[in-house]
Amino acid sequence: MKILVTGAAGYIGSHTCRLLTETGYQVVGYDNLSRGHHIAFERATGGGTFVQGDLLDTALLRNTLKEKSIEAVVHFAALGLVGESVEYPQRYHRNNVEGSSSLLRAMQEAGVRRLVVSSTTAIYGQPEEMPIREDTPPAPINPYGQSKLDVEYLLQEACERDGLGFVALRYFNAAGASLDGMLGEAHEPETHLIPIVLQVALGQREQICIFGDDYPTPDGTCVRDYVHVNDLADAHLRALNTLNPGQRIQLNLGSGVGTSVLEIVEHARKVTGHDIPAEIGARRSGDPPWLIADNSRAKQILGWTPEYSSLDSILTSAWRWHQRHPQGYETT
Ligand code: UDP
Repeated sequence: MKILVTGAAGYIGSHTCRLLTETGYQVVGYDNLSRGHHIAFERATGGGTFVQGDLLDTALLRNTLKEKSIEAVVHFAALGLVGESVEYPQRYHRNNVEGSSSLLRAMQEAGVRRLVVSSTTAIYGQPEEMPIREDTPPAPINPYGQSKLDVEYLLQEACERDGLGFVALRYFNAAGASLDGMLGEAHEPETHLIPIVLQVALGQREQICIFGDDYPTPDGTCVRDYVHVNDLADAHLRALNTLNPGQRIQLNLGSGVGTSVLEIVEHARKVTGHDIPAEIGARRSGDPPWLIADNSRAKQILGWTPEYSSLDSILTSAWRWHQRHPQGYETT
């Protein structure tokens, strides 16, 4: 089956392209390369078909879907930084919401009616109830979360209007790297906890600043649900295999286990054998104290089990990637 993957050169996109290719799907990558790395897609697919283009270019998307005889789309392309979204909310609306709307139009025109989409825990905001279930009312607290919730509304409209079938996968904290150290996380600038902690271990930064230790959590630092990127890729594959036109499915993808910022730092010290100096800083605005997934629905509907999401597996694979690629994809 031929699949179009938007955001194919990004972190989760490239890992998913690799798994799809290994499973026998024919992958066509689509990415504007504003944040992604072409080499990541090449490594993932062994030089698969790639189209450099923007989501807002509806004509290019439509023509690609038609010319390549695409049967389903996996849609990752989006901006995903909370802090940046607060600073540039319009950019997030245009890229994420208008971009997805353009993709849906192109799919409708090309008669493609199956879509797997990345969504996020950020749509839930700061829920009282933990773990978070899919029917926890969405209440985003930043423009990024709002943009992804708006995308989910667009999907529901397209489902009712055009018979689109979709699976929206709401990721918790994506982490880790491919086990062979060939694909991994490379953002510029880097804002995520695990890559920053490992950059301290590599001597590229002096210390990690822990954003607040006065949260109502066991050790006072924020608790997150880290899920290995290989497990996310596996869920996309399963979603593609499950999905039929007209269906609408929303699923949480998390390990179901909460880990605090301090636990990450301590475990990274063990895995890397380095000190990793840490200082306590101010809270980062918009950070909820806890985010943990109830992942039972994904398990039930997709037959999915997170296999690689232990802290050890996440940190060991990420450490291998960072050691081999201290400057990201620039050092290959
Ligand atoms: N964090 C931190 N120091 C950093 C980066 C992140 O203490 O330099 C904390 C952040 O406050 C959050 C957790 O680590 O509680 C995970 O943050 P990240 O940015 O990796 O993912 P997010 O949860 O924002 O999606």
